[in-house]
Amino acid sequence: MKQVPMVDLIGQYNKIKPEVDAAIAEILTNASYINGPAVKKFQANLESYLGIKHVIPCANGTDALQVAMMALNLQPGDEVITTSFTFIATAEVIALLHLTPVLVDVLPDTYNIDPAAIERAITPKTKAIVPVHLFGQCSDMDAVMEIAKKHNLYVIEDNAQAIGADYRSKDGSVKKAGTIGHIGCTSFFPSKNLGCYGDGGAIFTNDDALAAQMRVVVNHGMTVRYYHDYVGVNSRLDTIQAAILDIKLKHLDGYAEARRFVAKFYNDAFSVSEKLITPVTSSFTSHVFHQYAFVTKGVDRQKLMDHLQSKGISSAIYYPVPLHEQKAYLDPRYKTGDFPVTEELCKNIFSLPIHTEFDVETLQYVVDAVLEFVK
Ligand SMILES: *Cc1c(COP(=O)(O)O)cnc(C)c1O
Repeated sequence: MKQVPMVDLIGQYNKIKPEVDAAIAEILTNASYINGPAVKKFQANLESYLGIKHVIPCANGTDALQVAMMALNLQPGDEVITTSFTFIATAEVIALLHLTPVLVDVLPDTYNIDPAAIERAITPKTKAIVPVHLFGQCSDMDAVMEIAKKHNLYVIEDNAQAIGADYRSKDGSVKKAGTIGHIGCTSFFPSKNLGCYGDGGAIFTNDDALAAQMRVVVNHGMTVRYYHDYVGVNSRLDTIQAAILDIKLKHLDGYAEARRFVAKFYNDAFSVSEKLITPVTSSFTSHVFHQYAFVTKGVDRQKLMDHLQSKGISSAIYYPVPLHEQKAYLDPRYKTGDFPVTEELCKNIFSLPIHTEFDVETLQYVVDAVLEFVK
């Protein structure tokens, strides 16, 4: 039987294998495992790709968010606004630093943070907003930045899912996702759009002082060797991972193109069914489709999943439980019903395989299997 996994990292690797293998072999030979030349090279190449002054590599995307918040010197009890519909890492670091996560709902068409809801959630304790560019398209950053400016707040973009996406401001300027707020954070987890072969992450900023502080935080709070002026963390990108990422960065736009082809194929095919509400891309952003997620109407998701699995097709639910209903994050401030859009999405959203190595025949196989079930 045909097997259709959510991602095809092996197929992708096979196309760049000679270059990757040679780069890894070189590092093994010269033993520059930590902070080797490939880290600086990748950093510089990513800075120029993103059009940003500073890229600070780190160990993973969760660390990137934590380091960003540590560098802003946020204090226990400071409020950080983020979305109720995201991967847990976003809220996790807020909680770990004893900051107060303030959740707001998302928009039903793009699943991204609702700017009007941000405005309503602001209090005198609010210090930062963390928009998440979910599934590969940008949040409404003009609106977010306007609110931040008005209330003197920091904006940290969680860009783990949208690296390479373009954002077009009302003034016509185009910027890369993650370079619009004060700080942008990303993840190089293998299945992310720019993924390495282990863990990795990075932080972006145009602010020289913030960049300097974040470089100190990722390196044990060390200003001069063995002089620690701050409590920091140990968060580095391995040289081997940096070398792999530097090779894959050259393909990132091509990878996004391949993902968009898959999304368009699904969109066109599913437009025949009223039970499948295909994803909407906002006019101000390009979409790099980290995930292909859509809303099902009157479909038994578990049965659909089982049906697909019986044909060798993987599927997933991103995300089944909203943040305010997660056991570790239960909070008397919030109850079921507070975030109706998020709660509906958690009940009805569904994700199909999307990656860079699809062929039309396999896509048609997936589409036929889905339509066979929902018709
Ligand atoms: C993947 C992801 C992260 C965390 O990245 P890791 O590298 O796995 O720590 C954070 N936020 C979002 C939205 C993500 O998808």
